[in-house]
Amino acid sequence: MSKLEFQTEVSQLLQLIIHSLYSHPEIFLRELISNSSDALDKLRHLTLTDDAFKTLAFNPRIDLVLDEEAKTLSIADTGIGMNEEDLVSHLGTIARSGTKKFLSQLSGDQKKDSNLIGQFGVGFYSAFMVADKIEVISRKAGEEAAWKWVSDGKTGFEISPAERAEAGTTVLLHFNEEGSQYANSWRLQEVVKKYSNHIAFPIFLTYDKSEWNAEEKKSEKTRVTEQVNAASALWRRSKSELTDEDYKELYKSISGDPQDPLFWFHTRAEGTLDYTTLFYIPAKAPLDLYQAEYKTGVKLYVKRVFILDDSKDLLPQYLRFVRGIIDSEDLPLNVSREILQQNRVLTSIRTASVKKILSELKGIATKEPEKYLEFVKEYNRPLKEGIHGDYANRETLLELVRFKSTKVDGLTGLAEVKGRMKDGQKSIYYITGGPENLLRTSPLLEIYKKKDIEVLILDDDIDEIVFSQVESFDGTDLKSVNKASTSEDLKDESEPENTEALAPLLARIKLTLGDKVKDVRVSSRLADSPSCIVSDEEEPSLQMQQMLRAMGQ
Ligand code: ADP
Ligand code: MG
Repeated sequence: MSKLEFQTEVSQLLQLIIHSLYSHPEIFLRELISNSSDALDKLRHLTLTDDAFKTLAFNPRIDLVLDEEAKTLSIADTGIGMNEEDLVSHLGTIARSGTKKFLSQLSGDQKKDSNLIGQFGVGFYSAFMVADKIEVISRKAGEEAAWKWVSDGKTGFEISPAERAEAGTTVLLHFNEEGSQYANSWRLQEVVKKYSNHIAFPIFLTYDKSEWNAEEKKSEKTRVTEQVNAASALWRRSKSELTDEDYKELYKSISGDPQDPLFWFHTRAEGTLDYTTLFYIPAKAPLDLYQAEYKTGVKLYVKRVFILDDSKDLLPQYLRFVRGIIDSEDLPLNVSREILQQNRVLTSIRTASVKKILSELKGIATKEPEKYLEFVKEYNRPLKEGIHGDYANRETLLELVRFKSTKVDGLTGLAEVKGRMKDGQKSIYYITGGPENLLRTSPLLEIYKKKDIEVLILDDDIDEIVFSQVESFDGTDLKSVNKASTSEDLKDESEPENTEALAPLLARIKLTLGDKVKDVRVSSRLADSPSCIVSDEEEPSLQMQQMLRAMGQ
């Protein structure tokens, strides 16, 4: 037997789990079942792709066995299993970027932190919310030896050789006081249905069922094993058979997000390619949205068999907040991450999926503008990244993004701005380069105010890069007020008379400023301020120059 200590982060996490008054301890079951489901997916994949496992009799199932008296619950699967090394590294360290992220976000405020647990789900360790001792007995597929991992969730764990008839993992929980409410078959069934109903594998519960014996006039207990979940690939059913509740439940079980999604788009394509997609937009942007190591949330299935998830090739990066499922009839089961990128079938599905998601969003923007604002509040910025990166869908994305403006409170879209253009106005204008309050008081806006022309306030740090590449929207030029060249809309103001009288003054200013400026000109783009700095049309704007300089160029 060997005794090992937890990695520091694990201890930290466990402390938190045990001491936080977390309000939904029931998620422990979702986490353990999803681990079992992952383990079954992995083994299924091996039996399909690896010759060494092809002859293995794969009988996928998850068994919950409840002992009400002893207050224990075991969760057993016939999945890939873990050997000694796996147990040490998977259940002794924090390998998941999500959990690391979770730890980095802790505030020290118990209430806030326990909410965070709910959002992240902290995987296997969440079981220590309900158990004061956990035993894991596991045998890895293709290996003979089995191992037992035991821990009280305090300082470390012990590993020793064990027995297990088949490959797979059994997690035995000894419930603590908080957990004893789950030593109850009703409660367990309720929690499984809530989170894990659509897990593709059957989940059985073995427990003592009380049944009324009419002859003896008393209730009797019999040990029974019943399937608890529906285990159906719900997305393959037709829309008309599904209720909103079905969709929401599936969302929760695949995303781990306790909140209802904002929208979902369910599509079945038949023809040259047969596939089903079901995409969800989370109500709140995933917490790792702006992390370099974000996790994606679309799972790839082939003929209802789970193939892989967290692939960055299923949807473009800017749609990384989308959750859901792609289920194809045409891909081979042994499709690998590496070949996904060049796979023609997947490329077509991906292209069609992006179009579908964007056109659905467009529909919502028109029909339910209030609801759409909830979406924009969370996802305006990724859409802008799309304008930058997805040339083919630029026009649609331009319709979808929203902006602050000098003319409206809140947010507005380019189509509306275009609709508000003044008679004879040629272009749509925007200003970039700083926080909102600075932009709103910029002298550059004076002439536009005076002429009552709307200017969009682009205060997001990526706006400059994104919109400097956008020349027009729906046939109308998009122009930055930061640039020097006077637009047609300001023409009558741009050639002030009397410049000759000002020539000596200009010469004097030029002499004083020297190399610091390219030119000094008389302009009537200002109404109240004496002067302002602008960029040459051909040159990168001032802010861009600052960025380039910061990057050492
Ligand atoms: P995650 O599932 O996000 O990776 P967890 O904390 O839930 O994080 O689990 C950690 C790791 O432990 C898993 O990635 C997996 O390798 C291993 N593991 C947990 N449960 C099982 C199981 N039932 N069968 C096989 N491996 C498991
Ligand atoms: Mg997990």
